[in-house]
Amino acid sequence: MNASKSILVVGAGLSGICVTLQLLNHGCSVTLIDNSVNHSSRVAAGMINPLVFRRMTKSWRVDDFMPFLKRFYTELENETGSSFFHPIQIRRLFSSEQEHDFWLENEKKDSFLSYMHPLSPDDYSYGECKNPFGSGRVKESSFVDVNAFMNATLSLIQKSSLILKESFDANQLNRTNYKGVGYDEIVFCQGYLNSTNPFFNTLPIDPTKGQVLTVSSKTIPKDISINRKCFVLPLGGNSFKVGSTYEWHNTTLNCTKEAKNDILKSLAFLTEEEVVVISQAAGIRPTTRDRRPTIGTHQEHKNYHIFNGLGAKGYMLAPLLSREFVDYLILGTKLTEEVNIIRFKS
Ligand SMILES: Cc1cc2nc3c(=O)[nH]c(=O)nc-3n(C[C@H](O)[C@H](O)[C@H](O)COP(=O)(O)OP(=O)(O)OC[C@H]3O[C@@H](n4cnc5c(N)ncnc54)[C@H](O)[C@@H]3O)c2cc1C
Repeated sequence: MNASKSILVVGAGLSGICVTLQLLNHGCSVTLIDNSVNHSSRVAAGMINPLVFRRMTKSWRVDDFMPFLKRFYTELENETGSSFFHPIQIRRLFSSEQEHDFWLENEKKDSFLSYMHPLSPDDYSYGECKNPFGSGRVKESSFVDVNAFMNATLSLIQKSSLILKESFDANQLNRTNYKGVGYDEIVFCQGYLNSTNPFFNTLPIDPTKGQVLTVSSKTIPKDISINRKCFVLPLGGNSFKVGSTYEWHNTTLNCTKEAKNDILKSLAFLTEEEVVVISQAAGIRPTTRDRRPTIGTHQEHKNYHIFNGLGAKGYMLAPLLSREFVDYLILGTKLTEEVNIIRFKS
């Protein structure tokens, strides 16, 4: 395929933004449409954690994702003159003896050296929070200030591309002509709203609602992100983001008292303080049963593509996967089978 293509991207969440940025790098001309219906990418905490705490394993393809995302976010910070990518140490308070043992077993392995600090006496006696089974410090963790990232990148995109603030209407699409304008390719990045897309709505993308609180606390540590039952992300001053819930197959966008109480109950494992709730927010993650993204090309409509299914780790996955997807789209390179939607072909 050739560069300098004209592409319509539907959805300007994290997926649509990353795909657009990569297309612009290839010299394509992009029109981006977004209706701001779901704010998953802005509700997210933006945490980037290389470990999966359940069994203390490494996150999928983490050795590929970590170096790429660091370069991606810092280069964008330089280009936009904004600051949104911040290293922060995560301290996992072990929830059981078994979790502690998993850590101890893995910290000795070469493949984990980059992501785990070996347990030290201080990790057992860490006294800032309740800590019955000891705790471990994660290396290479970070977070993206998601609103600063979205604002900076959308402003950057706007300099060279058209951003339409409206709903994409499939009835107005005639092959690759949308509302009288012809495009070479159309890329759908609609998050959980993929269910409204007549071309890709049979793909198994499940909506998983998540709610987060912003709280004020005088006792929670301000220099690290504590994790047990919930994550706590310091926002500066006495403010912290705390979350989040996992509400499967839920497409409502309202904040609920139940979720607030659940999060506060989890936080009670970390501090006895009665924190003050400042605000609450809800979003919907586009998740898949096999925990892999849904990326690829429509079987019949070869100019229609999808980049979706980033689940709960979008800020780690999107930089490299959007690059791999755009290389596939523009240069014709192969898409890894794990993410390719052809895996759902019956
Ligand atoms: C509570 C919560 C906490 C999270 N925490 C983290 C975290 O700490 N770290 C992390 O990496 N990830 C986190 N995530 C996950 C992350 O938010 C998602 O992986 C990511 O935002 C998905 O981005 P997306 O662009 O695919 O979807 P979305 O953000 O949903 O974007 C899709 C966009 O498409 C638009 N759209 C859809 N249909 C149409 C249409 N017909 N016309 C026009 N526009 C349309 C929508 O309005 C939306 O703006 C969290 C998510 C939630 C909900």
